[in-house]
Amino acid sequence: MDKKVKAIVTRAVPYREADLILTLVSLEEGKLTASAKSCLKPGAKLRYAAAPMNFGEYMLSGKGDRYIVTDCVQYDSFSPITADIDKYYAACLILEMLARLSPEAQPSLFLHSVNELKAMAYENKAAADAVCDFLLHTLNDNGAGLDFSACSACRCILDGDASYSESDGVVCPHCASFDGIKIDAVSRAFLAGENREIPDSLKNRANIMLADFVYRTLGVRPDGSYFKEQR
Ligand SMILES: [Zn+2]
Repeated sequence: MDKKVKAIVTRAVPYREADLILTLVSLEEGKLTASAKSCLKPGAKLRYAAAPMNFGEYMLSGKGDRYIVTDCVQYDSFSPITADIDKYYAACLILEMLARLSPEAQPSLFLHSVNELKAMAYENKAAADAVCDFLLHTLNDNGAGLDFSACSACRCILDGDASYSESDGVVCPHCASFDGIKIDAVSRAFLAGENREIPDSLKNRANIMLADFVYRTLGVRPDGSYFKEQR
């Protein structure tokens, strides 16, 4: 049985002599595993289709967890990303999280992921800004969005520090419960999108906090190299 899916390669692992086992996340069905035969032989026709970050329309034959890639029409490889180490690690974080959050189709998060890769590759978007927006989307697209600009309890406009807890979301200092996690004013303004013009070290501190909220909410923690390299 053949099928066509719009998919992005999130992982490629060598197998046997010249094959690669691909983890694909597809718009239509979420995560799939497929082998790309003879891809590591010189001059292999479908080599590009087996590269991590390749986005295209994949033709697959077989079924269940034993698909074989028979053809691929490439949409984009986001190649400028590989020239910048911060963007590369940010892209790895996005792809890893997308794969882990897509046991089933996640069409909205899929498109948001592709948009963040595009913005880093062609629109000069900073790696830390892309990571922040992607993590905000993972919450939104799973019905657990956080608003960093207004208190979720009293609805006052937040303009300084704030507090987070799983039960309350993001609240002002007056509404904060005793066990809330403090969000400093600079991190809050960054996460709210109010001030993105801050040093990378501060962006990174805010993103680590956001990644922790994602973990507490969705149970998935980014464990790639991105945050390790930034510390
Ligand atoms: Zn409040």
